[in-house]
Amino acid sequence: MSFILDILFPKKCVGCKKEGSYFCQNCVSNILQTDLVCPRCEKLAVGGQTHPICRRKFGLDGLWSLGIYDNPLKSAVQTLKYKRVKDLAEVLADITIEYWAKYQPFLLEKIKRSRGEGWVVIPVPLHWWRDNDRGFNQSGEIAKLLSEKLGLDYLDALKRNRYTRSQVKLKGRDRQQNIRNAFEMDSSLRGAERRGNLINVLLVDDVWTTGSTLRECCYILKRAGAKKIWAITLAR
Ligand SMILES: [Zn+2]
Ligand SMILES: [Zn+2]
Repeated sequence: MSFILDILFPKKCVGCKKEGSYFCQNCVSNILQTDLVCPRCEKLAVGGQTHPICRRKFGLDGLWSLGIYDNPLKSAVQTLKYKRVKDLAEVLADITIEYWAKYQPFLLEKIKRSRGEGWVVIPVPLHWWRDNDRGFNQSGEIAKLLSEKLGLDYLDALKRNRYTRSQVKLKGRDRQQNIRNAFEMDSSLRGAERRGNLINVLLVDDVWTTGSTLRECCYILKRAGAKKIWAITLAR
């Protein structure tokens, strides 16, 4: 079946359009690394760990992104979003783990040492203001694959609140409050918490832009009892 599909819809590299794979080796090696920054002040930080003075009770503990939001990674993220290419998600998850282990190993080693215990992977739900009614959550797809490859539990613990107002007309504080109201906890998280599984979270999104969505998701999860939360994104 996949053979037939390959003939009808040949795999093309998201970067250079060369046939044969979704993301060719040459383009993968052209992904530009981002500086590792603190998720609060966005200034340089060792390993992407939140500066001690930037730590807040309900704030993120660190941020790691695969690369800069520029081509070829940008076109990979966009292809994933609009075309739902699951094989591409697989490739991106593999590259993420490979680069993560290479450029920022300490968090992965910490997770390995804990044998996955106490760490779960949670995706940021679909962004309602991006008007994606097609129901494909690319962050969920990446999060699921990362959890499988890292041997961690996957929890779809955050739900988008249907009653949130459109973000477009809101300003400043209203906007922030609106985002805060946008997500609610799913009962699965409380269940995990009760079983003692939920301690630390890898919070996965496709792109870090202002970080407001990831910060708000972190806030809700920490209010619910999560201890350490790292934001993991494909691009920044
Ligand atoms: Zn290529
Ligand atoms: Zn900082």
